Amino acid sequence: MAQGEGDALARSDLQPALLAGYRDLTTLRYDFPLVLIRAGSDGQSVQSLSALFDGALKEIAANGDGERTRKHAGRLEREIRKLIAEGATGTLSKLCDLGAARIGAKNDELLQESLSGLRAALKSDGEVIDCDKAMPFRLFQHAWQALQDQKAQKFRAEINKLIMKLSDILSADFGHSKEGMSAERLQASIGSAHRDTFDFAAMSRMLTAASVNVPMPESRRQRVRGLLATLRTQRFFPPATESDKWIGVAEPYPFVFETCSEAVAAYRERLPKMTELAKAMAIAKLETEGEYSEARHDTFFAGFGENGLDADDIAAFPDYLICLRAADFRAAESDLILRAFVAGMPAKLVVQTDDLLEQSPIRDDYLFAGLRSRQLASSAIGFGASYVLQSSSSGLFQLREQVLRGLAYRGPALFSIFSGANASSLPPYLMAAAAAESRAFPAFTYDPSAGPDWASRFSLYANSQVDLDWPLQRLDYEDAEHQLVSETVAFTLVDFAACDPRCAKYFAKVPRAKWTDDLLPVSEFLTREAKDFTEKVPCLLMVDRDNRLQKVIVNDTLVREARRCVEAWRSLQELGGVHNSHAARLVEQERKVWAEQSRPAPVSEDKPTSAAIAAPAVPAAAAAPVAAEATPERSSDEPYIETARCTSCNECTQINDKMFGYDANKQASIINPDAGTYRQLVEAAENCQISIIHPGKPRNPNEPGLDELMKRAEPFL
Ligand code: SF4
Repeated sequence: MAQGEGDALARSDLQPALLAGYRDLTTLRYDFPLVLIRAGSDGQSVQSLSALFDGALKEIAANGDGERTRKHAGRLEREIRKLIAEGATGTLSKLCDLGAARIGAKNDELLQESLSGLRAALKSDGEVIDCDKAMPFRLFQHAWQALQDQKAQKFRAEINKLIMKLSDILSADFGHSKEGMSAERLQASIGSAHRDTFDFAAMSRMLTAASVNVPMPESRRQRVRGLLATLRTQRFFPPATESDKWIGVAEPYPFVFETCSEAVAAYRERLPKMTELAKAMAIAKLETEGEYSEARHDTFFAGFGENGLDADDIAAFPDYLICLRAADFRAAESDLILRAFVAGMPAKLVVQTDDLLEQSPIRDDYLFAGLRSRQLASSAIGFGASYVLQSSSSGLFQLREQVLRGLAYRGPALFSIFSGANASSLPPYLMAAAAAESRAFPAFTYDPSAGPDWASRFSLYANSQVDLDWPLQRLDYEDAEHQLVSETVAFTLVDFAACDPRCAKYFAKVPRAKWTDDLLPVSEFLTREAKDFTEKVPCLLMVDRDNRLQKVIVNDTLVREARRCVEAWRSLQELGGVHNSHAARLVEQERKVWAEQSRPAPVSEDKPTSAAIAAPAVPAAAAAPVAAEATPERSSDEPYIETARCTSCNECTQINDKMFGYDANKQASIINPDAGTYRQLVEAAENCQISIIHPGKPRNPNEPGLDELMKRAEPFL
């Protein structure tokens, strides 16, 4: 069948077969919804609803009757998911009440009893959020706030201690002054109960005469008063309570922004105040410890902060959180924030991309680019000192520790998030997960504080099956004869595109009567050059609303986009140390050197070799069996793999896992050369990055295309 023969998908009521099991998310237990808990920054400030329920049930089970409660808790959890999907909002306790009412707890004593046990065991509460368009900003603001609260607590404790000690210094000075020892002052300080008992005038004369009055130098008094004014009027951290508020002090500064320009301008404007406060705290510490020396410290502090604050000083202040959407992100803003990053502004920038589909500037086509966020992430990584995290919103809970690490990072941090909330009819969670699985929006972290090199800093670990082009999943379905069929299918960019109705024009449904061998799974098509399959048409397995299997063919534009996507993914893999071409080249060079060195050296009849001089003479007959044991004789007709050198990259096992298999060390060998074709052996040899597969000679003389295949096999014999 040729492309163009199918029925165009006017409206996509189909979805990739691999997503068939996820149609109703309210029936599934997964990371979402999340509960935002104001508990701290230890990773517990964000919890998944399921994990909270599981924790509570574990506690209940430890105390006895758990089974009934488990069933009832399951009903409540499902109901809360439904409520959230219908748009309900609020705290966990509120949603528990709503859910309990909907499942009829009022009229069921046992249910009521189970749920009150569950509520008692649920120790945490907080706002419940689903994986929707608003979620990423809510999550980041919550996590950022938890960290800032901790920072504020520490900072306030420090400031309050300094204020108290500085005030004591002034009080002591005043207490020793004439005014401080006046009769009125003494009377006021002693309280009304004993006022008539004392002669305060006599006491004042006595104290004044006895005191060795060494007044505080005026310069010190002024300095201490100045420090107190600076500390009391700071606006970087809010007071802990209303009663801690100093009269006349302006409102605290805001630190959450919607544009980079506002955040950068605020930072610039506040920098002198920040320097002044850091300086005041440093001087106050010396003052309160009695170590401030005007001769030594005046000159030093006169130039304080001229070359910028040091990292410890900056880290004590709040970070600037900027949350913006990629669609609103102008080039000038991007340029500005990158320069601010380089200059050391402690900004945490969250860029949310809602749509990866972009109009091609040169054709009436779409590109799956997400270009703005991609460019920003590569520039921030290129700068080297920024923390960078990229993830779909569906993966944020799994990456919560990395999120907190980035927010707590001493320096700029960029979080590039794909929300999945676009034109698709699928829930944002599914779209976000599909973008991650299909490598359209892979997850990675770059943490400059993790070590000096790429291996320690860059990680792709959050992606599934990171060493493959696309993750493989098992697909079970019933064929036309109602037989159960099991297939291993890759989830590619084409699957992701098939979730988006705007891409319906790239697909055409194939009537069942035309399901011929010409239709090749698109993942297979994508692993080879198109010229290898001139007679084949790439197709995708999809399901309709009734879960009936359908095949759709895919047009060239999408195939091209998918190839581009996998190329970008392979570059990321290299950065993450997966299939690294430099490493592979090095291994190859080492292999050649090793082969060269293993070759027996030509022996000169006149001159003994250095080895012959150094080693005792060994009879040739005795050496031969050892050599034969180490390197078994192989016929070049037999296919084999140099198993000891296998890097477990899966290339060969993906081609045919009956023919190629792993041993206990996860190193490949040929387990059954007759389980596939000679073509597969040759293709595996070509795909093996370190060229350790030797395809031997064809085993089936009737296999088509043998002449061409044997030519291709020659370099590997
Ligand atoms: S034999 Fe080659 S292709 Fe197969 S897993 Fe090992 S390194 Fe990869």
